[in-house]
Amino acid sequence: GGAVSQQTIVITGLAGLAAGAFSMAAGEYTSVASQRELVEAELDVERRELRKHPMDEERELAELYESRGVDAELAREVARQLSRDPEQALEIHAREELGIDPADLPSPLVAAVSSFGAFALGALLPVLPYLLGATALWPAVLLALAGLFA
Ligand SMILES: [Zn+2]
Repeated sequence: GGAVSQQTIVITGLAGLAAGAFSMAAGEYTSVASQRELVEAELDVERRELRKHPMDEERELAELYESRGVDAELAREVARQLSRDPEQALEIHAREELGIDPADLPSPLVAAVSSFGAFALGALLPVLPYLLGATALWPAVLLALAGLFA
């Protein structure tokens, strides 16, 4: 006796899936949102620096190109031309100094949705055989293992 009904397994599995997927998604959202705030704060600092000390920033850029092997005079000229447009200047400083692409900041929503999907898929695999009417445990174990390696 003591056999757990198929229905119970499916319902328990799906409930766990939903709870887990939502909490994973919420956690991911929070973490990416705070990461993005940090990045935006760094961008603000750089933007302010560019406005307050444009010449220092231009020199900084020239030194960077020089350190990469560009002739001093050419490096200064490239830095001067690239610094003309403030938006472009910010983009270059962000990429070179912070390793950030301001046009491609992490999206909390995208991260949350994809982590929800990944978790739901992983949790759905072991339940799948029961949904399809299996009564033995091994198909579920097999699929769970396959999911782990995938
Ligand atoms: Zn800078």
